[in-house]
Amino acid sequence: MQSVPFQIPGKISAEPLCDPCSYHIQGTDKLLIRDCSQGKSLLARLDNGAEIIGQITDIVRDRKIEAATFYAIGALTRADLGYYDQAGHKYHIAPVEVPVELASCSGNVSLLDGRPFLHAHAVLADGQSHTWAGHLVRGSIFAAELYLQELPGPRLNRTLDPVTGLNLWSEL
Ligand code: ZN
Repeated sequence: MQSVPFQIPGKISAEPLCDPCSYHIQGTDKLLIRDCSQGKSLLARLDNGAEIIGQITDIVRDRKIEAATFYAIGALTRADLGYYDQAGHKYHIAPVEVPVELASCSGNVSLLDGRPFLHAHAVLADGQSHTWAGHLVRGSIFAAELYLQELPGPRLNRTLDPVTGLNLWSEL
């Protein structure tokens, strides 16, 4: 198929601005895609005082859900956010010791060592428009509402990836 160069409407360019195919740069790893279907979905009011990652993990473990995507909003009384040092292969943990809005939280569920494992990121906000964002390590719930969509399909396991030092989805 012939590629079509991008054009900005209203501007006349003597030469193509760029070729979209030139952005298809091959990565260093093999692209992994797993087809899945949509299973059960649920809405849950999470508990005041509970730890959010642990409580969502309990929900999926109790329902034998092995793969899912989820979203949550609400408020936390405190949280720990992680930032992954890509060169050093370790997380730096930033504690957020003030009550915050859980402005956005999204994540997924897959398996690590045969058990459900949550991966969640969050954007937190205080009353002075300060925001924090990162990998949600843990958070204490003030109030939170969860939407979770089960995604049945072949088992999706995480294994240690030596390139990144992270437990990534793998063919194993
Ligand atoms: Zn993360």
